Amino acid sequence: MVLDNKRLWETVLAEIEMGISQATFGTWFKNTSINKLESGIVFLGVPNTFVKEWLLNKYHKFILKSLRNIQPEIRGVEYLISRQEEPEKAKKPEGYPTPTEWGNQQIPMSEIYINKEDNLNPKYVFDLFVVGSFNELAYAASQAVVKKVGSLYNPLFIYGGTGLGKTHLIQAIGNHVKNNSGGSKRVHYITSERFMMDYINSVQNNRGNLFKEKYRKYDVLIMDDVQFLSGKEKTQEELFHLFNSFYENNKQIIFSSDKAPKYISGIEDRLRSRLEGGMTVDVGKPDLESRLAILKHKSRLSNFTPPDEILEYMGSVIQDNIRELEGALNIIICQSYLKKRPLTINEVKGLIKNNIKPKKNISIKDVTTVVADFYHIDEKKLYEKTRKKEVVKPRQVAMYILREDFNTSYPYIGQKLGGRDHTTVIHAYDKIKNDLGDNQLLTRELEQIRSLLYQN
Ligand code: ADP
Ligand code: MG
Repeated sequence: MVLDNKRLWETVLAEIEMGISQATFGTWFKNTSINKLESGIVFLGVPNTFVKEWLLNKYHKFILKSLRNIQPEIRGVEYLISRQEEPEKAKKPEGYPTPTEWGNQQIPMSEIYINKEDNLNPKYVFDLFVVGSFNELAYAASQAVVKKVGSLYNPLFIYGGTGLGKTHLIQAIGNHVKNNSGGSKRVHYITSERFMMDYINSVQNNRGNLFKEKYRKYDVLIMDDVQFLSGKEKTQEELFHLFNSFYENNKQIIFSSDKAPKYISGIEDRLRSRLEGGMTVDVGKPDLESRLAILKHKSRLSNFTPPDEILEYMGSVIQDNIRELEGALNIIICQSYLKKRPLTINEVKGLIKNNIKPKKNISIKDVTTVVADFYHIDEKKLYEKTRKKEVVKPRQVAMYILREDFNTSYPYIGQKLGGRDHTTVIHAYDKIKNDLGDNQLLTRELEQIRSLLYQN
């Protein structure tokens, strides 16, 4: 089968994306495409010289191998700077390091090698997982599961926001069980989305039974991002039966999701009760100390440690996503290589400003203005004690956003919005959070409010 260039590259990217962290993927593979394929040579368009050098020096072998997996007649890859960059800039800048000066050789294959049988990425292990107060419960539960597979916490359900380490942690369980069972336990990792596609394919090809057999033979099933199954009734039914079979046989199931089972909308009650029937733990946002520990840990791994001052700055501005923290560190490290010297704090500030969305610059007033506008009410009312119906909901929404997106303390929110007690704020927050579970309209309202709030 010969794919067109676009499909070919998308397929290769999908494989690469599974093998490296999101941050690395975003930094190096965003805005790449196959410009042409001629006599077995792929001409890969890349945004700038910097990316070109990096791909050539770090990922060339891997890219070639992935391409050849799909089209064996491919013999080589050439990197072209795409139009976006002026031709002069595409030339090698003065003082630009040559490949041998980059220090690291090609990224070892093991790091990006995903086992096709179990889908586990070997780099997601407990040893590379930094534990802090924000994730220690989830970590402890995961440790407990590997000690008593299938019999203690079944299922284990880990939830939390994006980029906070859920995938890392659940795969670490899988890698641990796999490596410590001497091959006797069959582990399988899958996203719920892939699971659904697999299921649909099996139905379309009249292979429903093969599908059932395939999944039932595993001893440990790890299903990532189960919230995706919201509204997918048939797949939920299949998962429900699969779950029962696992459970009855004391085989372990592990789930991750962006929210707790009770807040995932469009999930059948009987499946929901299975999801929350074992151990449910969340991972929160890392505190400053943990963010610093993660930065230090990651920079040690890359053999490049920026000065404390810089790490502290990064840790203080990038607050709620470990993936972003990793991405920013990658950028800093690369720029230092490029300049062949450590960056100054001002350079770092500039780089981060251009790469991280500036949530911090939004004030309480910005939130109330946008919310009041959106619901067509007088903004002043939000700050007053009035309990008029048309004000109560917008005020609750504003409270919810302040808490959820900015981690503002309950008492402070209460004091600002109508001089209310913190319990009222907690109630408002819970109410909105709860309603979001099954109120599509409210969900869309919040999406729109947020997009108004966060547009540049
Ligand atoms: P999620 O699945 O919650 O969106 P991931 O597990 O994909 O998040 O984590 C995002 C990135 O951050 C990954 O590269 C992961 O290795 C890294 N990461 C997350 N949590 C930790 C941690 N506690 N220690 C070290 N790295 C972490
Ligand atoms: Mg994930």
